[in-house]
Amino acid sequence: MTELNPSRFSGCLLGLAIGDALGMPLEGMRASTIRRRLGRVREFMDAPWRMLKAGQWTDDTKMMLCHARSILERKGVDVEDTAHKFVEWFESGDWRGIGNSTYQSIQRLRAGVRPGESGARGEMAAGNGAAMRIAPVGLVDCLDLERLHREVREVSVITHANPEAVAGAQAVAFAVALATRGDLDPPSLIAETVRFIGPCAVSERLLLAERFLAEGMEPEEALARLGTSGYVVETVASAFFCFLRTPGDFEETVSRAVEGGLDADTTGAVAGAISGAFNGLEGIPERWRQGVEAAREIIELAEGIYGLVSRN
Ligand SMILES: [Mg+2]
Repeated sequence: MTELNPSRFSGCLLGLAIGDALGMPLEGMRASTIRRRLGRVREFMDAPWRMLKAGQWTDDTKMMLCHARSILERKGVDVEDTAHKFVEWFESGDWRGIGNSTYQSIQRLRAGVRPGESGARGEMAAGNGAAMRIAPVGLVDCLDLERLHREVREVSVITHANPEAVAGAQAVAFAVALATRGDLDPPSLIAETVRFIGPCAVSERLLLAERFLAEGMEPEEALARLGTSGYVVETVASAFFCFLRTPGDFEETVSRAVEGGLDADTTGAVAGAISGAFNGLEGIPERWRQGVEAAREIIELAEGIYGLVSRN
């Protein structure tokens, strides 16, 4: 039964920012180093080498905010306006770890290339840069999955014109949409997602995650085998694994996701968006809701998108 609740919208976008911020100081570290030096990661930390303080997030949230603001201003997904927001962010200089495909694509947009043609192509464009930022599209299209499928592709290819990058973003937006509607059934999520995105490497790795879950594999081993690099196939499978292992526990999900290291902020952001939509704002620990950068603004944007969806 579909039932809309603003808390799931806010939980989703704030959950994404929190996963990003928790993983921010761990980006590039190996899981074994994190385990040895830090143990369990449950608190925001400063990262002076990035000139970021505890609770601050990275490019994942910056780009998610571009989508959210564009959706609110245009009352839906608008490809041209989204691309314009990406360029504005780029020109602000506050990049916070911008990815390679995104950098190249925005340079092309600035040179006058159309958003349908600007995206990076080829194998190297199978990064997680679309999946990490796509949650607001999952929210605004949560009642129309056909439109979600199409619009996620249209905004993903602005930077990532690669079928796996698009499929990964569709998988994340799909899970966000189901969770937001109150229709996400954890035991069948992977089968439904695979049906939604079709046969591809993302689907294959998701099915491997499903097998690891059925076997009760520990997260350390599962994430080592699924992967936590910037390759979208790895990010999506590891984030789904962490969510589905503990669907009702936002803290455990996001903490496990970032402890996988490497692209820790993005695995955390994806897991946080899905778990936050599933558990709602109240499911997120108070100290993280208080400590994350720009929480009020993020919640206001999410409530604005809820307003758009619930009025239609
Ligand atoms: Mg990042």
